[in-house]
Amino acid sequence: MSDKHHGGHPHRSQRGPRKPRDGGGGGRGGGRRGGGPSSGGGKGFKSAGRAEPVPADLPETKFAEFDLAPNLEAGIAAAGYIEPSPIQAGMIPLVLEEKNVVGRAQTGTGKTAAFLIPLLGLLEPVEDAAEDPDASPTGPVRILIVAPTRELAIQIAKESDKLTRFVPVRTVCCYGGTSIDDQVKALRDCMVVAGTPGRLLDLIRRGHLDLGSLDAIVLDEVDRMYDLGFRDDVDRILAAGKSRQQTILTSATLNDDVENLIAKHMGEHERVIMEAKSLTVDAIDQTFYFVDPRRKQDLLIEVLKSLKPAKGIVFVRTRFSVDRITYQLQQRGMGAELIHSGLPQRKRERILELFREGKFPLLIATDVAARGLDIDDITHVVNFDIPNHAEDYVHRVGRTARMGKEGAAVTFVTIDDGPYLTQVEKLINKEIRQEMYPGFELEKPEPAAKKEAKKQKRPPGLPPWANVARRR
Ligand code: AMP
Repeated sequence: MSDKHHGGHPHRSQRGPRKPRDGGGGGRGGGRRGGGPSSGGGKGFKSAGRAEPVPADLPETKFAEFDLAPNLEAGIAAAGYIEPSPIQAGMIPLVLEEKNVVGRAQTGTGKTAAFLIPLLGLLEPVEDAAEDPDASPTGPVRILIVAPTRELAIQIAKESDKLTRFVPVRTVCCYGGTSIDDQVKALRDCMVVAGTPGRLLDLIRRGHLDLGSLDAIVLDEVDRMYDLGFRDDVDRILAAGKSRQQTILTSATLNDDVENLIAKHMGEHERVIMEAKSLTVDAIDQTFYFVDPRRKQDLLIEVLKSLKPAKGIVFVRTRFSVDRITYQLQQRGMGAELIHSGLPQRKRERILELFREGKFPLLIATDVAARGLDIDDITHVVNFDIPNHAEDYVHRVGRTARMGKEGAAVTFVTIDDGPYLTQVEKLINKEIRQEMYPGFELEKPEPAAKKEAKKQKRPPGLPPWANVARRR
């Protein structure tokens, strides 16, 4: 990180109304957000320094319609974003109008840039960057993004780094499990902070993270934050940032808890809702296998052998099972590595990096690792254990078929998992296709299921929740 110092805080002024672009040097033109480094986030972040000069040969993009500062637009083009995704088309104009916005969108739809682009676009150094190319990054913190997991916080910071390549604005990533000192130092000259609730609160309480000049708070994947027990922390962070002018919230689902939070903290707001049926992208081929719980591991090996994923993630409920399954796959030379919260942060990042680079084909993971994994080209997601919360299914399978690519999601379902499968199908508003693997057809249903099947005139072998008419 850079230790540059700057006299005073020239950008501390309150956000005024957006100045109209006049096509020349005035107004919001020339936004260059000098990208400093993100710190505390391990590898992959921008190195310390000012904004890079804008290259001459960047492609034209359809983001021009938002009238963004030129250097921010250049960052978007350099990131390779040519056309706004639907959630971006919906959210960007509303956030630019400084409205509070609720976005319901699953991961993989470009939701991060949907809030980052307009929030960055409203910062003065971004607007002025073209005219002031040598400006250094400064504080105070203007945009705070709260994320449920370290991985997601890191992804957000990286996305911000990409977008701010040509403007003097620095992003810092704050999460637990790593040195707080580096983060404290970096916070001095940064305008954007992405972090997990616990570490952010810690920094606020110790006086290192001052939210007095905050423009906006983003609560990203808030349903997941609640699942992970961060409700009180989220409340405290919102209270600490009460002088903010804008609140943005994203969530894959808007359940009662999320609605309560919106009612309590967001006041007047706009909503950008992706239809429930698009909760899982159509490009994902979704299937399930009905399997005897004792034979799941064998079925996994067979399924993986036949699918031959180029890049696949296997989701498993417990860390213990992750260890066991990974060991078994490794014994068979199937190129598997594991990631779960028991691993030191550095090791997790290293494994993710290698997986991203395609150094091994199979990543065995718990749910904690599911959020925020922004890895391109995931071809297969296997739910070795079906999640107990339907929302987690959406997040898991959202790892594949990102931004228009194709992917496949396979789920193992045991006799006890029926209600969970039903919940998932209800949430995604779509039937998941059943597949059979030769040799793994269930021969004998459990006694209770047999009785129920008879009652409902189901052929034996099918579980009570299987809708015969539907699945045939
Ligand atoms: P997200 O849903 O925010 O996790 O984004 C999913 C992936 O899409 C990330 O790798 C982004 O870098 C990428 N992305 C975001 N917006 C666009 C866009 N407009 N065009 C192409 N890729 C994008």
